[in-house]
Amino acid sequence: MNVPFLDLKTHHAACRRELVDAINAVIDAAAFAGGPFVTRFEEDFACFCEARHAVGVSSGSDALWLTMTALGIGPGDEVITVPMTFIATVEAISRTGARPVFVDIEQATYTMDPAGLERAVTSHTKAIIPVHLFGQMPDMAPILDFARARGIVVIEDAAQAHGARYDGYRAGTLGTAGCFSFYPGKNLGAFGEAGAVVTQDVRLADRIRALRDHGQVRKYHHVEIGWNCRMDGIQAAVLQVKLRYLEDRNEWRRKHAAHYARALAGIAGLVLPICRPSRTHVSHIFAIRVADRKSFMRHMESRGIGCGIHYPVPVHLQDAYACLGHRCGAFPVAERCAAEFVSLPMYPELASGQIDAVVQAVVGALHPSPAYA
Ligand SMILES: *Cc1c(COP(=O)(O)O)cnc(C)c1O
Repeated sequence: MNVPFLDLKTHHAACRRELVDAINAVIDAAAFAGGPFVTRFEEDFACFCEARHAVGVSSGSDALWLTMTALGIGPGDEVITVPMTFIATVEAISRTGARPVFVDIEQATYTMDPAGLERAVTSHTKAIIPVHLFGQMPDMAPILDFARARGIVVIEDAAQAHGARYDGYRAGTLGTAGCFSFYPGKNLGAFGEAGAVVTQDVRLADRIRALRDHGQVRKYHHVEIGWNCRMDGIQAAVLQVKLRYLEDRNEWRRKHAAHYARALAGIAGLVLPICRPSRTHVSHIFAIRVADRKSFMRHMESRGIGCGIHYPVPVHLQDAYACLGHRCGAFPVAERCAAEFVSLPMYPELASGQIDAVVQAVVGALHPSPAYA
């Protein structure tokens, strides 16, 4: 049985009529760049996130950059984040002119280890960006306490965690702002590029609204130098439809993760993801760890199972960040994970038979003895 890593076609089949109607409504209204569809989606998304304000923007990367820019972060400042993330988190810091500073991740949850903050902080630190990797929030309480005590802001990179919770609080609402991506493969995905910032702070929301539209507060009245980071109307209309399904689809993902965890429990040579009890995981990615990834992936491929690696090179060892001068061994947990991670197929529409096929292939890859054949 072939199991693709991701299956967006099936994902959209269930609501295709609604999606086409929504796109037609945008064409009829000719409201393509910003406009009423974006405003309506912002209201719905703020409501979903249990946040006061949501600002629709052009991508998750821009959401991060706009938020830092609106908070006055720039050259001479330092921003702390993790090296085990998609590079966009770190690029956004660089684009403001600030310097990215890393702390390692926790062995158990693959998210920011609060114990690393003390060593990373300096008098130049302006923000901490924890990343809700794979759909689970980090241990936010000590991160927030650490930041509050030093007058540092916390910006959540929630690009992989739409709907996740920590102690009951939605992803994006614990920090000063939460940044979301609606890249097509994310738990809430557009038909192109889009992102959003959520915040409780009306002044921050207003400043981001101006910055995303060339610093404009009234037509052709520009109070500061911004850029074009608007969300477009078609993306907003599509996202508004898909948002109605999100809670349900996240629940399906959680069920699949539980199915994987049950079926793979106790198998030697395999590390399973851990979900902390006080957190609601939205299972964006189901990453296991294996020692011999190369032969494992070869076996999975031979069985028709699509796998991914998130992420094979931690950001501090990327050529693009050679300028920071980090060496191998600087962030050992991130480095070990980068060498061992394998992402199994994970999407709401996975059928139970497909999960069984993945499980069988995993067992076959790790224990190629006749007893398991
Ligand atoms: C996807 C992603 C981003 C960037 O979002 P884009 O919409 O692709 O710009 C940032 N951070 C993380 C953790 C992501 O997964």
